[in-house]
Amino acid sequence: MLIDAHNHPNWHGHDADRILANMEEHGIDRMWLFTWEVPATDYSPTNHRVLPPGGVGIPLQDVLSVGRAAPDRFVLGYMPDVKRPDAIDRLKAAVEIHGIRVASELKQRVPFDDPDALDIYHFCGEQKLPITIHLDYPIATGYRYPRPNWWYGGSLDSFERAVAACPETIFIGHAPGFWAHISGDDRALTESYPNGPVEPGGRVLHLLDTYPNLYADLSAGSGLTAISRDPAFGREFLVRYQDRLLFARDYFDGRLMAFLKSLNLEPAVFDKIACRNAQRLLGDAE
Ligand SMILES: [Zn+2]
Repeated sequence: MLIDAHNHPNWHGHDADRILANMEEHGIDRMWLFTWEVPATDYSPTNHRVLPPGGVGIPLQDVLSVGRAAPDRFVLGYMPDVKRPDAIDRLKAAVEIHGIRVASELKQRVPFDDPDALDIYHFCGEQKLPITIHLDYPIATGYRYPRPNWWYGGSLDSFERAVAACPETIFIGHAPGFWAHISGDDRALTESYPNGPVEPGGRVLHLLDTYPNLYADLSAGSGLTAISRDPAFGREFLVRYQDRLLFARDYFDGRLMAFLKSLNLEPAVFDKIACRNAQRLLGDAE
């Protein structure tokens, strides 16, 4: 069993048919499909290259319509804009009417410990909805308009305060600003994909050691870079946190799986990362 625990409908031109064909090609049994609800002012125009034009972000409607193409293959996710006054009601309705099981993806220009966001996290804890978060620091793009940078979520400090404030809620760390902290230096603040040897004392490890409600997905260039930039460290990291890491792609390639296979992990460790941890988070039978 293989579960891709982070992906999106209509992302990079992948409609339901292309996603299902891609799952066949890569041996993926199930895929978690996430929305991205974000105000237009907080949306980088570069996303128009990889998402359907005319819209902003990835609407719930897209998750629902792709999900309907193969209900037994998709786990549906939705996180409303946390600053909507009716965000909790919208999420509750999506759970009750559409069977939403994951409150993701959270990617907004709002610090993670915003009081309105904390209310939603508490609701997610009660409902047993894991939350996948996207963290980006304000790293200059070289342009002044429409914005000089595209930070999302604030900082690892704001994320840590949220994780600490909501011990009953499962958080899944993701994205460059999260994974660059695998190394005990400050390169996360200035580089999206720092490479090379991992320095001791990385805050990702400290957070995983401190908060049992924190998980992380290995998706995208950020997750793969974190575990492959220093392969001996990466292998140790995967073994040490084998109960808290999720196979995930946030894209449609096979690079992460190729790297995982190259490490020759014990089958039990591989299995947890490939599917068992994701199943356990959703309360699914293993
Ligand atoms: Zn994503």
